[in-house]
Amino acid sequence: MAANFTPLISYMKSAFQRWAALPLSPLGRINRVKMNILPKFLYLFQSIPLFLPKSFFKNTDKLILSFIWAGKTPRVKKFSLQRSRLSGGLALPNFMYYYWAANIQKLVLWVQAPSLPWCHLEAQSCISISLPALVFSSLPIALSQYTDNPVVCTSLKIFYQFRRHFKSISASTMAPICNNHLFPPSFMDSTFSLWEKKGLKCLEDLFINNVLANFSELSSSFSLPPSHLLRFFQIRHCVSSLFVGFPSLPTKSAWEEVFKLNPHKRGIISQIYATIWSQDDSYNIKIVGAWEEELGLELEDDYWGRALDNIRTTTSCARLSFIQFKVVHRAHLSRSRLSKIYPNVPDMCENCKLSACNLSHMFVLCPKLQTFWNSFFGTMSDILKIKLDLCPLIAIFGVSSQCQPLNHEQASVVAFASLLARHRILLSWTSPQPPSISVWLRGLMFFLKLEKIKYNIRGRGDSFLGKWQQFIIYFNDLHTLEVD
Ligand SMILES: [Zn+2]
Repeated sequence: MAANFTPLISYMKSAFQRWAALPLSPLGRINRVKMNILPKFLYLFQSIPLFLPKSFFKNTDKLILSFIWAGKTPRVKKFSLQRSRLSGGLALPNFMYYYWAANIQKLVLWVQAPSLPWCHLEAQSCISISLPALVFSSLPIALSQYTDNPVVCTSLKIFYQFRRHFKSISASTMAPICNNHLFPPSFMDSTFSLWEKKGLKCLEDLFINNVLANFSELSSSFSLPPSHLLRFFQIRHCVSSLFVGFPSLPTKSAWEEVFKLNPHKRGIISQIYATIWSQDDSYNIKIVGAWEEELGLELEDDYWGRALDNIRTTTSCARLSFIQFKVVHRAHLSRSRLSKIYPNVPDMCENCKLSACNLSHMFVLCPKLQTFWNSFFGTMSDILKIKLDLCPLIAIFGVSSQCQPLNHEQASVVAFASLLARHRILLSWTSPQPPSISVWLRGLMFFLKLEKIKYNIRGRGDSFLGKWQQFIIYFNDLHTLEVD
């Protein structure tokens, strides 16, 4: 550790100090971490199995977050930043998950490619037990009984750290029947090796249609002679003691599926990394709950998925994307939140004197904002030639609910236009004056020029016009009217 990771941490610290002077946005800083720091860590993670305690990653994350937020208090939860772009995050690397993913890839090779020379060597170092038996074992397990090979021990220790983190400590049905410490008869009885040759290799092979098969079903599938009945009872007893819900096949965890992937495929570590994330879906629940409570409605999974997607798809401008990211992830400080931090700050809107002055109030529900939002929805209805009612969901997330279905073009216009409206509201967050609709329109036209350039660079000028032509015509007419 001292030889490998300590110099890397010092390098990271000095790099952060150097980059701190650069005019980088949080998104730019995240990209720096992704491009310049992560590959150096990944290289080490892949080269040597070295056990790192979770506290190591906690401290690394602390350094990274302090760099990203330029030493200020982080406004968004670390996990929200680390989520993939497809799940509404900013894809800040989670170093601990990458550490686990790099290690798991080696174990997938143990299971899938045992004939590789180094896999063979590591398997040989285990006393009468197979590597898959150790991988798929229930936890805890006294490893020193089975191997004294430091590489094997550490690789498994890292893997068990991962499994314990996700509370996945029961045995897997992917465990082999032979050379398995959980099934001692397999050490003494060569019949089970015969089963293996006939294709009956792991515990899950004993299940047919998700239920443990009976002996006659197995003997017809794997041509077992009637004399093997006693062995069947032995393994049946073992299965019944290992898995709750016997005789049903236990549901597989996401990590178990990883062992069926092709370990030689390009991008396998990213795929394992994504699988690790898929085990962790608790992070959204709090944010969704907070929005639901404020708005007094239920956000369906599908709607929430579209709202998260919207962060990535609304604009190609990193600055605006980041604004939408912060809105959805509730990064802004409302008066309600301030009053919780500072007891002398009342939870009351300074403009309308109503409470609670939470984020929904400050973005849309405040009576002082009604003129602004009415004009916004009126203008959008005129331009899109549809009747678009004032909807808090569009005002906050830029996504319409099923009550007001929009086609693809309309939806992207509404997403972008409403994002600029939120941008306006944020600019006058603490001002007594509500934002003005004409300033919003002008801001929108300004950012639209940048969007147009990006569309043209990608050779998608037609698609830009398809979306925005009506809007530009409207704005130009408006301009003439004003001059008149
Ligand atoms: Zn108010």
